[in-house]
Amino acid sequence: MSASSYIIVGSGVFGASTALHLIRKHPHTNISLIDRDSFTAPYRVAASWDWNKVIRADYSDITYTKLGLEAQQLWRADSIWQPFYHESGVVWISPTSFAEQALKNFDQLGVEVDIKTYSVEDARGLYDGLVEDADYTGVKQVLVNRNSGWAEAKEALQNTIATAVGLGVEYVTAEVTAVDFEEKHCCGVKISTGESIKADRVILCTGAYTPKLLMNSAPEWQNLHAGGRIIAAGVAEAIGPLTAEQRHILDRMPVIIDDNPTENGCDLGCLPLPSINALKYWGQTIFRNTLQHTVTSPPLSMPPTQLDYAQWDVPQALKVDVRNGPNSMFGKKHFNQGLEKFRICWEALTPSKDFIISPHSECDGLYVATCGSFHGFKFLPILGKYVVEMLDGNLEPALKERWAWDRKLPPTEKNTHWPWKELKDLFNES
Ligand SMILES: Cc1cc2nc3c(=O)[nH]c(=O)nc-3n(C[C@H](O)[C@H](O)[C@H](O)COP(=O)(O)OP(=O)(O)OC[C@H]3O[C@@H](n4cnc5c(N)ncnc54)[C@H](O)[C@@H]3O)c2cc1C
Repeated sequence: MSASSYIIVGSGVFGASTALHLIRKHPHTNISLIDRDSFTAPYRVAASWDWNKVIRADYSDITYTKLGLEAQQLWRADSIWQPFYHESGVVWISPTSFAEQALKNFDQLGVEVDIKTYSVEDARGLYDGLVEDADYTGVKQVLVNRNSGWAEAKEALQNTIATAVGLGVEYVTAEVTAVDFEEKHCCGVKISTGESIKADRVILCTGAYTPKLLMNSAPEWQNLHAGGRIIAAGVAEAIGPLTAEQRHILDRMPVIIDDNPTENGCDLGCLPLPSINALKYWGQTIFRNTLQHTVTSPPLSMPPTQLDYAQWDVPQALKVDVRNGPNSMFGKKHFNQGLEKFRICWEALTPSKDFIISPHSECDGLYVATCGSFHGFKFLPILGKYVVEMLDGNLEPALKERWAWDRKLPPTEKNTHWPWKELKDLFNES
C-alpha cells in the first residue's frame, strides 16, 4: 500500500536517489527531503559529497557486479548523470584472487566488458609507464577494466537532488534531532527548532549518523537501536595538485586501486581530478570514534560531535596513511608529495558490507536506506529504484533478505575492512 506523505532524512546518494525515484513513481505524494546541509553548500558532511568517486562494476560479489552494470548504463546514457561520468578505466593492483573472481562474474553474466589481466611486467608499461614503479609485492596479475571510470561526485549528487526538487520534492535544510513516535508507530521527525514534521513514512538515509540518531530518538528503546548492524567508520582522503609538467598524465589517466602494502589495512587509491589539475587519494586505515552516549550507557561509534563532523581535523597518522598512496602507486615518479585538503569521510558500514534497505522491524512507518559500506556512491542512479520497491513491497526476495534490517551478521574478528582503530588513538600516535 502506498502512503500519502514521506520524509526522507539525509540527502546523500541514498536519500537523493530515493527522492527522485519516489516522486517519479508516486508523483502525487508529499515528499520532504531533509538534510542539515543545503544541497548546494560548498562543503557537506555527507560521504556522498566528495571530489570524484570511482564508478565500476568490478566486484567479487556477483550481485553487486549486476547492480554496478545496471547503474553504469544510466551513468553513460541518462542526462542527469552522463555529464559527470568519465570512462577512464580502472587499474587494480592486488595480491588477492580479486581479478579472477571479477572476471568470472562478467563471464557468468554473459556481458561483454573491455577487461583484461596483465602480467606485472606488461602492467608496468601501461598508460605510458604510469604504474611502472608501483609496489607489486605478491601481485600475479594486474586487472584493467577500460569500461570502469569515475564521476564528479558532488556535481552528480547536486543534479540528482535538483531534478527531484524540479519534480516536486520539497528540500528542507534542518537538523533532525529525533524520530517522532506515537506509541511504537513512527509519525514523523523532530527538528532542532523544536518543531515536529509529520509524515506517514520516514526513511532514514542518514549514513554514519544513523546509529546515533536512533539512540537519540529513544535512548531506552534498545530494540530500536542499530546494535551490531551498523558502525560509523571513517577513512581519510586528500588531494594533490599536479605541477604544470605533470598535468599531461590527466589526459589518459585511469583510476588506480591498490591493496599494497597489505599490512596497512584496506585498499588505497587514486582518481584524476582534471577540473582542478590534481589527483585525489584515499588511505588504507579504517577507524571508528567510540564515545559515550549522553543518555544511555552503551558507548557507540559516531562522527565527531561538531556540526561539520570535524572532517577537516585529520591526525598526522592518517595524513601519513594517505601519503602512502603516492609511494605505493607511483614510487619514484614522485607525483603529489605535497598533499592538501585532508578530509575524513564518515560512512555507515555493515559487517557484510551489504546495504540496509529495509523496514525497521521494531517500528511501523520507519524505514532505513543507507550503509554504503565504502562502496555505495556508484549506485546513485539506481539506489532509489530499489528503495521504492522495498517501500511498495516489491523488492525481490534475494535482495530483501540481503538488505534486511534483521539479518544474520557475519563475525568481524577477521574482517580486514573493519574499523579496528580508534580516532583518538590515531591523534595520540601523531
Ligand atoms: C573516503 C571514501 C571514499 C569513497 N569512495 C567511493 C567511491 O569511489 N565509489 C563508491 O561507489 N563509493 C565510495 N565511497 C562510499 C560512498 O561515498 C558511500 O557509500 C555513500 O556516499 C553513502 O551515502 P549515504 O547516502 O548513505 O550517506 P551520506 O552521503 O553520508 O549522507 C547522509 C546524509 O544524512 C545527513 N544527516 C545525517 N543525520 C542527519 C540529521 N540528524 N539531520 C539532518 N541530516 C542528517 C547528512 O548531513 C548527510 O548529508 C567512499 C566512501 C568514503 C568514506
